[in-house]
Amino acid sequence: MSAHKIGFIGLGMMGAPMCACLKGAGHTLYVADADPERVSEMCTKLSAEPLTQASARELDVLITMLPNSSIVESVLLEAGWAGLLKPGALVIDMSSSEPVRSRELGDTLAARGLHYLDAPVSGGVKRAENGTLAILVGGTEAHMDAARPILEAMGQSILFIGPAGSGHAAKALNNLVSACGLMVTVEALHVAKRFGIAEDVMTDVLNASSGRSNTSENKVKQFMLSGTFGSGFSLKLMDKDLSIAGKLAESVGYPLSFGTSGIDTWHRIAEGVSPATDHTEMYRFLSEDP
Ligand code: NAD
Repeated sequence: MSAHKIGFIGLGMMGAPMCACLKGAGHTLYVADADPERVSEMCTKLSAEPLTQASARELDVLITMLPNSSIVESVLLEAGWAGLLKPGALVIDMSSSEPVRSRELGDTLAARGLHYLDAPVSGGVKRAENGTLAILVGGTEAHMDAARPILEAMGQSILFIGPAGSGHAAKALNNLVSACGLMVTVEALHVAKRFGIAEDVMTDVLNASSGRSNTSENKVKQFMLSGTFGSGFSLKLMDKDLSIAGKLAESVGYPLSFGTSGIDTWHRIAEGVSPATDHTEMYRFLSEDP
């Protein structure tokens, strides 16, 4: 596989381990983040270089892994990183961004002679560390195929979804299902406890039965019942994803019912928590005797 010059902006819970996978696959990395400590840590750990105006001009690919669409747009367009790229360079937004804004961003970049993919991920920090993320790609299949060796360094399932914005739409809908599933799983655990069924026993029941889910298998015992609440995905970031899913449903004229109830509950709780609060703490917030 040929090595590429890759710029990577956003070295947080997900970006840092994704960079490690890219470096492990032999790519040359140029990194940036609003927090200079994260940049120097990545440079030391991975022998990466800080992203500069000069190195940006040489990039084959620029990846963003940032909190939301507004930050992605401000980094690429206002801070000007996209303006430095050579014609034909590929921008891949792997953040969980807003599908309609992503489509517009793709058009804006195309007008400047750049290519664009939205390629949000699912799987959390653990699968980012193992390079086994699911990657949901929007754009053209030709650009995805060109980027495949890069995406395969970070992910196990690379799924082509459709035109630009489709990856972000699919990601938001996945997280709607995930968040609503998490809340109903937690509610079932609280009911079980009050009836006298131990929560770990109820979790085993779910995992052996049709109520099994990613939450029951990978979050309940690991992060909720253990009290560590350390999945690495914040409650507020999930809230942002739920807002995106709600807006998406509205934009296509589909009236969510269960989904709206889930989104409203998550919004209400998210309003009162700090940005560092892990999404698995929903277990505590949905309990009346935390
Ligand atoms: P994070 O908050 O840990 O990291 C975000 C990084 O972006 C931070 O290092 C921050 O300093 C940097 N940043 C913020 N504003 C910036 C700016 N203007 N310029 C440069 N850098 C800036 O978030 P995360 O958990 O790594 O999530 C990143 C994206 O991936 C989000 O869109 C999130 O919804 C999505 N996501 C997260 C997970 C997870 O498990 N954490 C899983 C799937 C998808």
